[in-house]
Amino acid sequence: MADPEYDFDLFVIGAGSGGVRASRIAASHGARVAVAEEYRIGGTCVIRGCVPKKLLVYGSHFAEELQDAANYGWTVDKTGFDWPTLRDAVLRDVDRLNTAYTATLETHKVDRFLERATITGPHSVKLADSGREITAGHILIATGAWPVRPDFEGSEHCITSNEVFHLEKLPRKVVIAGAGYIALEFAGIFNALGCHVTVVNRSETLLRGYDEGLRDRLLQITMARGIEYKFNCPFEKVVKRDDGCLEAWLNNQPDPLIADVILVATGRRPKIEGLGLENAGVEVGERGEIKVDDTAKTSCDSIYAVGDVTDRVQLTPIAIREGQAFADRVFGNKDVRINYDCIPSAVFSQPPLASVGLTEGQARNKYGSIKVFSSDFRPMKNVFGHRPERGLYKMIVDAATDKIIGLHMIGPEAPEILQAAAIAVKAGLTKDDFDQTVALHPSMAEELVLMK
Ligand code: NDP
Repeated sequence: MADPEYDFDLFVIGAGSGGVRASRIAASHGARVAVAEEYRIGGTCVIRGCVPKKLLVYGSHFAEELQDAANYGWTVDKTGFDWPTLRDAVLRDVDRLNTAYTATLETHKVDRFLERATITGPHSVKLADSGREITAGHILIATGAWPVRPDFEGSEHCITSNEVFHLEKLPRKVVIAGAGYIALEFAGIFNALGCHVTVVNRSETLLRGYDEGLRDRLLQITMARGIEYKFNCPFEKVVKRDDGCLEAWLNNQPDPLIADVILVATGRRPKIEGLGLENAGVEVGERGEIKVDDTAKTSCDSIYAVGDVTDRVQLTPIAIREGQAFADRVFGNKDVRINYDCIPSAVFSQPPLASVGLTEGQARNKYGSIKVFSSDFRPMKNVFGHRPERGLYKMIVDAATDKIIGLHMIGPEAPEILQAAAIAVKAGLTKDDFDQTVALHPSMAEELVLMK
């Protein structure tokens, strides 16, 4: 494996979830590893994605908890919220994780270059700041993805999920472009923190790919909580007024929406600009994704790619698995392949939704004859909190085998409950296996084994 001809056995570009895992595992197999990162070690998930977002979800949830507190006998005389306190606490936690990730690389003796690297050939990269050329037996591209900024006049006045964690003050009015993961997660956060939120999408669909029943439920609950929606309204332009407010002009709408902040959350594209892929003949697909085979190898034999830059499944745990499998295969002599079936996912909207396997529509197309079981219930917490919001669980079963082929949930703690249930779905358990399991009472999760 070690080839003295090269400076390193592995040079990783991008120290995010996939890159850090691959570096650490390759080093633990004895490889001499270096990693280049142009921003901060940790990548999108840790620095400006999943982790800080989840902390903001937790922070915003106190609004509901404080309202409920009185029902439980607590006197809460005066409540208030201070955005800088939450923001800075979240950013401090990001710093902590950045330090922990850096320490992991240090412990594994992975050399770190905090600058941009460009591929100059199948076995070489050039560092942007120092100008240094480095050679390596293998190169791994793990540069992730970057928010798409749609092409309309004035889009430079909008922020993306990169900037949203650093807002100087809490906006009063927020307009969000897009109705996917990021849009609905931040709609929930800002709404709970007391901002007026309007979600604007180019189509009439929210959370494309999720089960329709859950999507309708989310729409209904979030509208009742005060979030406004505008569908089939592509942005025409954004104008910044002299008073600093923004006007969002939408197609088919006579008047603009007025906002302090406009967040564009219209997808993320593979981050390949300036990587020098052409210098090593690395092929790219239509969406800018680096094309790889099932061993993560690109069209250049010595160059591999994992994570969002390959635009297969844009989820952190997948990037981590891909990074691990690459390092185990190339440096640990283990033939590990990723199984992309039954990947659980969640949207941390308020309420959250979570899902694994096929939606009802997908299952009908694939299996023809299916059975759908559901539970539409009002969680005890909501009854006591005088909130009419109902949870909805749906189980999709192959009629021929009784095997569960999809499980979809919206309601409090849905992601926590679904992760455990996803093991059963992945293992191919049947509806009867669930029916044979005694309910754990009182819980929301018991609905899983009581579905009719
Ligand atoms: P999504 O793909 O989830 O949603 C994109 C939204 O933007 C859709 O509503 C889409 O509309 C709309 N859109 C797409 N292109 C355009 C365009 N050119 N102009 C106007 N609107 C457009 O993207 P996100 O940015 O929310 O998230 C990116 C990815 O990050 C996700 O796909 C997910 O994989 C990952 N992520 C995962 C999270 C989690 O696991 N909880 C959290 C956050 C992100 P339409 O539906 O009509 O196509």
